[in-house]
Order: sequence, then structure tokens, then C-alpha cells
Amino acid sequence: KSAIHRICSGQVILDLSSAIKELVENSLDAGATCIDISLKEHGVDSFKVADNGCGISPSNFQALALKHHTSKLADFCDLQSLTTFGFRGEALSSLSALGNLIIETRTKCEHVGTHLVFDHIGKVNSETRAARQVGTSVVVEKLFSTLPVRSKEFKRNIRREYGKLVSLLNAYALIAKGVRFVCTNTTGKNSKSVVLKTQGSSSLKDNIINVFGPSTFLCLESFNLSVTDNCRVEGFLSKLGNGNGRNLGDRQFFYINGRPVDMPKVSKLVNEIYRCSNSKQYPIAIMNFLVSTKACDVNVTPDKRKVFFSDEGSLVLSLREAIEKFYSPNQC
Ligand code: ADP
Ligand code: MG
Repeated sequence: KSAIHRICSGQVILDLSSAIKELVENSLDAGATCIDISLKEHGVDSFKVADNGCGISPSNFQALALKHHTSKLADFCDLQSLTTFGFRGEALSSLSALGNLIIETRTKCEHVGTHLVFDHIGKVNSETRAARQVGTSVVVEKLFSTLPVRSKEFKRNIRREYGKLVSLLNAYALIAKGVRFVCTNTTGKNSKSVVLKTQGSSSLKDNIINVFGPSTFLCLESFNLSVTDNCRVEGFLSKLGNGNGRNLGDRQFFYINGRPVDMPKVSKLVNEIYRCSNSKQYPIAIMNFLVSTKACDVNVTPDKRKVFFSDEGSLVLSLREAIEKFYSPNQC
């Protein structure tokens, strides 16, 4: 039974960035305004996500990492109009099956925090008192150590995994308003480097300046386009002639209602239109689709990043028109 649990968990948590994504979303759901991510050896040894959110109340401790334990899903209708990131109660349970899970937490009702160590089936192994501020820290040591093949692959691909993680953290740092992100990586005995540090500004514009710097911001133009009856898209795109000379997709971020998602079709479309007039470059794109939640289904793949619109074909068509108009001075 625990072997099956391990294998299923490996489908929810695919890699380093999907693990950290779940923890960051939990922190955002908890109302955190400061999220501190620390990696040891790029996440291979351990990673920790610490927040100043609401904390976890003691009545939830025992079930916290059991499968399908969630405090977020009120009733089925909620699935139609997701307002929080989590809702299936699979992240902590999966992480406990895939590595060593340790949680420290305190709510404002407690005077002292609690340090919880979980076993691989999600049960609390030990519970002790710990001094800490209100909020939660989740530590995962040795991710995938319970799945030897995945573990080997994880270590072999660590550069790519790490790059993907940095891009994911950038995606949240750009879109989250008033949330400060810090990410550090410690390698060797004590060599610590800051991967990302943001102020948590209150606008997308200031977040872009924060993450990419003012000179990059000057190359961008804001847009707010109506795509279909129940979909608008707002954000920033490179001005013509000011693309992203770097790798494809390097600085492209897509969101649905503020939730980071992969949108390969939209990315392809934007690149194609931009490159028509700007042959070698790729545009920077930060695009937030504001849709009525009935028009999209964000729950298709376990990591929730593959999003399907119920009417994607017509959306892409109208989007093409809107973006071509946006770049119309040099239309091809
Ligand atoms: P889900 O987010 O789908 O509910 P998770 O396994 O990610 O499932 O988390 C289980 C539960 O643990 C959450 O419903 C929430 O009550 C609690 N939790 C997890 N992380 C945090 C956090 N950082 N702050 C407060 N509560 C948390
Ligand atoms: Mg969650």
C-alpha cells in the first residue's frame, strides 16, 4: 500500500519546482506577505519554505499529511470557482511519501510553535514545542529518496531543475501583489547565494522592475485587451525592436486569473507575431488572462499547470487578432 502511495505521490510532485510550487501556493493561501525559500545543494539535500501566514491550528496536526486532507474545499461548487490554489490535500501527503517532511508552525492563538516530524505514510512521528513567530515552515529533506530511480534522475538533472525553479519563483514574484520573496541556496560548507529577493510591490509594474530591473521595464509596453466575451488579457509585451535576445521562453510568463500556468500555444502565437517584424528576437511576455472560471478548467494535470480552456480554439483566434492589432504599426 505504501509503495502505491509513493508512486502516486510521484505523479503529483514531479520535480523540485512542482514540490516548491505546492509549498509556495500553500503560503499564499495562508495569506503570507513574506515567503522565504532556502535550498541546500540546489534542493537536493533539502529545501524549506517559510512564511508569515496564518499558521496551522493544532486540531489539524494529525491529519495534515494524510491523503486528501484539506481545510480548503468547502463544497463541490468551489471546484467551479477556485479562489485558493490548493484544494485537493495532496501536496503534504505526497511530500511525506517522497522525502522527510518536517513542519514548524504557530497560529496567533498559540503562544509557542510546534515542531512536527512526519513518517512516510503521513503520520505524525513526533511533536515538540518550538519557538517561532506566527506562520509556517515546511522542510523537505532528500526529496525522492523513496523512489531511487527518480532520485538518480533528479540529481542528474539538477541544473535544469534549478533553472525551472528560478523561473517559477519569478512567475510568482511578478504576479503576487504585496508578497516579498526571498530565495537562497547554500552549497558546500557555508556558501550562501541569494537567488531572488523582491520587495513585494503593489503593482505588476513595480514587480517587473523589481525582478528584471528598470532597463528591461523600459522595453515593455502594457496592454489590456479584450479577447472574447468572457476573457480579457492584461500585462506587458516587448515593444517592437526590444525583444528578449535570450533563449526562447526565458522571460515569458502566463497566468490565468493570477495563477501561473504553461501556455505553449499562446507563447507560440506571440513569438510568431513578434518575430514577423523582428526576425531574430523573442518578446518578453507577461500575460494574465482574466476569465470567468466557468470558461476554463485548470485541473487537468496533477500539477495544475496544464490548463485547458473549454473553447481554446476560438480564444487563440481572437487573441491573434488582438495581438496583431497591438503590434499593428509594423503589421506583416
Ligand atoms: P491543500 O493545499 O490542497 O489543502 P496540502 O496538502 O497542500 O493540501 O495542505 C494541506 C493542509 O495543510 C491545507 O489545507 C492547510 O490547512 C494546511 N497548510 C499547508 N501549508 C500551510 C501553510 N503554509 N500555512 C497554513 N496552513 C497550511
Ligand atoms: Mg496545497
